[in-house]
Amino acid sequence: MSAKLLDGTKVGAQIRSEVALRVRDLQQRHGYAPTLVVILIGDNPASQVYVRSKIKACEELGIRSEKLTPPASITTGELLALVAELNARSDVDGILIQLPLPKQVDTKRVLMAVDPSKDVDGFHPVNVGNLVSNNPGLLPCTPAGVIEILKRSDIPVSGKEAVIVGRSDIVGKPVALLLLHQNATVTIAHSRTPDLPAVCRRADILVAAIGRPGMISKEHIRPGAVVIDVGINRLTERAEVERFFPGDAKRLADFEKRGSTLVGDVDPVAAMELASAFTPVPGGVGPLTIAMLMSNTVAAAEKRIQTEVEVGS
Ligand code: NDP
Repeated sequence: MSAKLLDGTKVGAQIRSEVALRVRDLQQRHGYAPTLVVILIGDNPASQVYVRSKIKACEELGIRSEKLTPPASITTGELLALVAELNARSDVDGILIQLPLPKQVDTKRVLMAVDPSKDVDGFHPVNVGNLVSNNPGLLPCTPAGVIEILKRSDIPVSGKEAVIVGRSDIVGKPVALLLLHQNATVTIAHSRTPDLPAVCRRADILVAAIGRPGMISKEHIRPGAVVIDVGINRLTERAEVERFFPGDAKRLADFEKRGSTLVGDVDPVAAMELASAFTPVPGGVGPLTIAMLMSNTVAAAEKRIQTEVEVGS
């Protein structure tokens, strides 16, 4: 068997074009452009790349964006004051605080301070509570992207066995809840799960959100399973690239050019051989995260305008 590749770039582009239409609608009907404010602190190169991509996506879709770069020496109090200011601004729809924050800052306190209606990352406890209760709210972007790629690839979820490896608050747990709400029978596995391969082989839908290059291998994948690889890991050793991408000249050339290449948490050879469908890395779940961030920003703006119209009438 050779797995069908689930094209996240294509699905992401589809979502973005829908978001662009919603932006145009807000503009035409209400003369309003949604606004996302991104707070970037420090010089973490990965954070800088992510923020650049987010701002670029905003520009492409007609969403206004502001990038704030307070000094790396900022205190928790100063950052809380900045968040309070953005919460109060009526022209700001989404507030995104790029993580990680400097060590001296209490990250949990800062994330808790974001107005839940502007929490486009879906990290605030109010939005987490809405997710648990299956109430409308802002969903975390990567987990929402996992659901979108399944839905838009016509992969049925209801009644299926889903196994999620990873229980983080930002990926594993929310993916599990979203699949549960879609009527999957859900198992969450983690580093203390005995006989992980046997647990994974129960899955019709296997989601890997671990942070370990190519850890999910042949012994974990039931033939015919749908495998969703959330992992993003950078390979810097040529031997590793040859191990995960044997005979893949394009990948090797990419590695030679950049000095590194990406692999997910799933061994791509095992997934291609055993799975019925598989999200590649890059080009699988990755592009959906930013698409869902754009969607959340516009949803926050739509909700606010709708409330204003209702209150005004
Ligand atoms: P975390 O480190 O927060 O969580 C990792 C989870 O994997 C933990 O629950 C941990 O278990 C589990 N785990 C670690 N080792 C093992 C093991 N040997 N066997 C079983 N379970 C294990 O990572 P995140 O959830 O933040 O991210 C997961 C991956 O997804 C990363 O590669 C990250 O880069 C990627 N990612 C991709 C995004 C995208 O846009 N595509 C966005 C966010 C993340 P325990 O709880 O027991 O320690």
